Amino acid sequence: MTKEKVAECVGRLTLLRFFPQNAHAVAELARIINELCANDAEGARLTDRVLRLHDQWPGPLELRKCYWMEVAERKPCDACKRYPGWVLSGDRTVQCSCPAGRREREIMALGLSVSRPWICPWENGRAENGERRNGPMAAPEDTGERRMDYDGTNK
Ligand SMILES: [Zn+2]
Repeated sequence: MTKEKVAECVGRLTLLRFFPQNAHAVAELARIINELCANDAEGARLTDRVLRLHDQWPGPLELRKCYWMEVAERKPCDACKRYPGWVLSGDRTVQCSCPAGRREREIMALGLSVSRPWICPWENGRAENGERRNGPMAAPEDTGERRMDYDGTNK
């Protein structure tokens, strides 16, 4: 975010009752807004949202919740488009490294969600046409050991 936009967001939030007067608190709020928002447009949307939902300063936790639930990017990347924000790593479901995955991680950290999807191991790492996909989230490489394939045939 640009400094000007952060200052504008903080200025607009002073409309709220009980807005902090202490200069350190105001500086911390500016820091949090800058840390949360990826760009000026997100900052504006977060400020709009807070001013629409609150008459008085709701506090930093509510600000974070508002950002992650209402403003943050949730569009999945190619790796996580089946379960937005989630991919399979080995046999564990983990948050993707893209913005949608970061959103899932933050929402869990804030206690807004405790569920992670179960991803079928043989669905992950395969493209729509059934071929194995290359890339960081592809199924583990064949280590050379003889093993049964998912369809029961020997490799
Ligand atoms: Zn992703």
